Amino acid sequence: MGSGQVTDWQGRHVTVAGLGVSGIPAAKVLHARGAVVTVVNDGDDARAREQAAELEALGITVRLGDGATLPKGTELVVTTPGWKPDKPLFEAARAAGVDIWGDVELAWRLRGPDAAPWLAVTGTNGKTTTVQMLASILTAAGLRTAAVGNIGVSLLDVVLGEEQYGDLDVLAVELSSYQLHWAPSLRVHSAAVLNLAPDHLDWHGSMEAYAADKGRIYEGNRVACVYNVADKATEDLVREADVEEGCRAVGFTLGTPGPSQLGVVDGILVDRAFIENRQQNAQELAEVSDVNPPAPHNIANALAAAALARAFGVPAAAVREGLRNFKPDAHRIAHVADVDSVAYVDDSKATNTHAAQASLAAYESIVWIAGGLAKGATFDELVAKSAKRLRGVVLIGRDRALIREALARHAPQVPVVDLDRTDTGAMLAAVQEAQRLAVAGDTVLLAPACASMDMFANYNKRGDAFAQAVGELGAGA
Ligand code: ADP
Repeated sequence: MGSGQVTDWQGRHVTVAGLGVSGIPAAKVLHARGAVVTVVNDGDDARAREQAAELEALGITVRLGDGATLPKGTELVVTTPGWKPDKPLFEAARAAGVDIWGDVELAWRLRGPDAAPWLAVTGTNGKTTTVQMLASILTAAGLRTAAVGNIGVSLLDVVLGEEQYGDLDVLAVELSSYQLHWAPSLRVHSAAVLNLAPDHLDWHGSMEAYAADKGRIYEGNRVACVYNVADKATEDLVREADVEEGCRAVGFTLGTPGPSQLGVVDGILVDRAFIENRQQNAQELAEVSDVNPPAPHNIANALAAAALARAFGVPAAAVREGLRNFKPDAHRIAHVADVDSVAYVDDSKATNTHAAQASLAAYESIVWIAGGLAKGATFDELVAKSAKRLRGVVLIGRDRALIREALARHAPQVPVVDLDRTDTGAMLAAVQEAQRLAVAGDTVLLAPACASMDMFANYNKRGDAFAQAVGELGAGA
């Protein structure tokens, strides 16, 4: 199907792989444009049947219970981003020379000729926060924008100009590694890779493959490739990317920035990239205290967001205003309450070790509540790097022994309470144990480094349980 915009869909045989958040709208829009659409889906449960009935009523063919066989005559596969690349359906497509697009590729190909440019963000951690900061900065600059993509807002709806989005000047786009894997022709205005740590390796097959998929975000960038100076792997990806002539590599750092970098000097976020005479000059953007919360990793997120906004020509004052206006989503280093001079902080969203490490680095003396589903992770590095900050640890969840063993190896002096339970009520017990271990001035930090599904429906529910338990400690907020 080449690599440009596709306008003529009449009579084209498209297979949509997977019902669900992206599959259903994809099937509908392609059908509406005249394509002959077949949806294939592994599952065949009541919900799938209901969704299938809705599509069939429009004249779309749906095949439930068989997501493996490629329908005859398929000219293009449009897949749900989460489907693993080694599925037989894809092997059959590749063998037949049929292109495979994800939801992002489809949106990219369907966008109109005057579509808003994309400023894109990926990384192992911090994507949602950075994209929201970016949208806030762009808004402060008077631009019409929306935070879209992996954040939960369908790019397809946005590029098709669905009414609720109206006309937009620029998009702040969060992209996951899965979406990037399936977006071969994406070429955005500017992009940032925030960091790279092992995650989702079962899906990608190897760290190299995961990094390569993240790196696709830089391919064909027009103005700036934003990388993390402290994470060399992100800079390597910039070097490997094939970009438009004149596109610049711009680093962000928590230290003093060199030319073509954004960084921090004496508590001030400064820009030495998007200014005249960057060899000598620096432009003040905001203060560290404008970043909410001003934890180191979050300042890095703010710098990345600022770099993308500056690449788009946003003035410095809008960066400050946008950062001040930004409110983090729930369960991301949320200060729940102070009880007896101990702060209780909910970072339930820290579902992997890289995220938990960032959050532990933000406090001096911590009672750490951790545990859950490890997803194959190891905890030695996290514990070794954080040991000196730990007043004590309370472990919950199915895979807590892995953390306990790492603590025994790297922090044997730290008291550990191992709660041998995975029921929902365990959170109250965990918070009570944490209160017992904490002394005035400490932070009790829920940063589990694990997924929540052994005990809770999701990380939101886990964070809610924590907040409720803190509320039950007695003293007021
Ligand atoms: P994502 O969308 O990539 O999952 P979020 O912005 O939702 O990222 O943040 C998820 C968690 O990752 C946060 O709760 C925090 O613990 C951690 N985090 C956020 N930004 C960073 C960063 N730049 N580096 C490391 N960890 C981070």
